[in-house]
Amino acid sequence: MKTKPVWVNETFTSIQGESTWAGLSCFFVRLSGCNLRCSYCDTTHAYPRGRKTSIRSLARRFFDSSAAIAEITGGEPLSQSGFRELAIRMRDGGGGRPVLVETNGSRNISLIPDGVIAIMDVKCPGSGEAAAMDLENLKRLRPQDEVKFVVADRKDFEWACRVVRKYKVVAQCHAVLFSPVEGRLTPAALAKWVLDSGLPVRVQLQLHKVIHVK
Ligand code: SF4
Repeated sequence: MKTKPVWVNETFTSIQGESTWAGLSCFFVRLSGCNLRCSYCDTTHAYPRGRKTSIRSLARRFFDSSAAIAEITGGEPLSQSGFRELAIRMRDGGGGRPVLVETNGSRNISLIPDGVIAIMDVKCPGSGEAAAMDLENLKRLRPQDEVKFVVADRKDFEWACRVVRKYKVVAQCHAVLFSPVEGRLTPAALAKWVLDSGLPVRVQLQLHKVIHVK
């Protein structure tokens, strides 16, 4: 059956840096285009349309790699109509290797196929994009999924804690991750707030920005 192409910014193998899968070798597919414009975005190069690429060839690159896992990221991958088929192909042909999808939380995550793991952002007010969130996604989480709050300041932290408590997010998924915005909040300050909160969330730093291997 002929499949639709997707628009790709880049593919590369590196160390996964932002989830409980951090530290593993990972084949990344970065789909191009994003519907948000977060104040701290470090992936602006993914905004333009990118290269039209067949799903078959992208999946083949993963199958031929020795990476332990794969991740489809962006941009916002769920914005592309070919996303679901790409995720299914990578899941089914990768020899059982886990496939992650990093999404900004503004699109319905029910699009993510069974057996594929969502790493879903919830955009805090400091991002400038909190209003774009589909908070119904917090009710769609599956046990293997992970949720990430990127925290810019105390206001973001208190907002994130309220969301975690209101939607019982810790009980809905595998892990809840709190990361500081680089240059706006120190890891130590965030760690202290998490300790004081008593919430069972994980403080997470962006490992790939320490390692710088691509
Ligand atoms: S969702 Fe991600 S890629 Fe899109 S603007 Fe926000 S940080 Fe950048």
